[in-house]
Amino acid sequence: MGNVIGFVGLGIMGREMVANIISRGKYETVIFNRTPAKCSSFKKKGAKLASSLAELTKKSDVIILMLADSDAVRWALEDTGGILSEMREGKTLIDMGTNSPEFNISVESMVRERMGEYIEAPVLGSKIPAREATLTVLTAGDEKVFERSRDILSSFGEKIFYMGECGKASQMKLIVNQIMAGMLALFSEGLVIGERADILPDRMFEVIENSAIQAPIFKVKGRNMLVSHDFSPHFPLKHAQKDLRQALSCADKLDVSCPVTASANAQFIRAKDMGFGEEDSSAVIKTLLKGDGEIHIDV
Ligand code: NAP
Repeated sequence: MGNVIGFVGLGIMGREMVANIISRGKYETVIFNRTPAKCSSFKKKGAKLASSLAELTKKSDVIILMLADSDAVRWALEDTGGILSEMREGKTLIDMGTNSPEFNISVESMVRERMGEYIEAPVLGSKIPAREATLTVLTAGDEKVFERSRDILSSFGEKIFYMGECGKASQMKLIVNQIMAGMLALFSEGLVIGERADILPDRMFEVIENSAIQAPIFKVKGRNMLVSHDFSPHFPLKHAQKDLRQALSCADKLDVSCPVTASANAQFIRAKDMGFGEEDSSAVIKTLLKGDGEIHIDV
């Protein structure tokens, strides 16, 4: 495996992840983003900018995608002059975004048709773990390709799991996000009830932290949700809803009834309809507030 990495997608996660590859100084880095302005600060740090996805693929041994969703991946692969036009033997595509198992299996076969290699490698953890290189990486696909990619993946975190054939890592990732979104929806309901019942927020958090339902996500997001009303996006709500949609579709194919997930999904769709899609996933709490869901803070 060569040492040139082409990185596509400089969103909330991608920009932190690419910064870690650059700072390691072990790999040459070529970058591309749909909105080119987001690339400029990385040029100063030593990354090369590609003018097209085909150029990025031509120059890279390993191409990493960190894109919003399957539409974005399709665009990157197939847009005229896209990745597939230059995919060939000796090149590896690693998709680290969250997409469905079915979609990733179809991408694996498109890449293989061109004699390239593919693994899926979705991540657990958000903006701060991405910055601190403490993400958990779930991988699946050809095990030999995974072993060859291990060093690159370790740029993002030390906990790396190999799950088996392609589709298993994305399935596991969707299970985690399905549970997480359900937890956030339920946490929101509890917090709003507590507030209306005049229980002090800090006392509520303290009790929850000392109970059987304590969880890191409650600790990280609780105060932002109820006290500081900080919904700046770490994990955008629109992506949480995308993952619920995909999780439900997987459940359907496996004949699993998921009424709780369906209810959480409805709540996240409502939050998107109310205009909170670009905010953090914890903004789902705003669907429970009176009025327009906007929090008007007196200053
Ligand atoms: P993000 O901030 O929304 O960034 C999305 C990236 O995809 C940007 O580079 C964006 O380009 C590009 N993009 C979006 N739509 C596109 C389209 N139609 N065509 C081409 N490019 C497009 O997302 P993120 O939070 O970094 O998440 C990236 C992926 O990782 C998602 O699948 C998400 O579910 C997953 N994930 C996120 C987190 C998290 O906490 N944020 C954690 C784990 C996994 P522009 O800059 O031009 O908009």
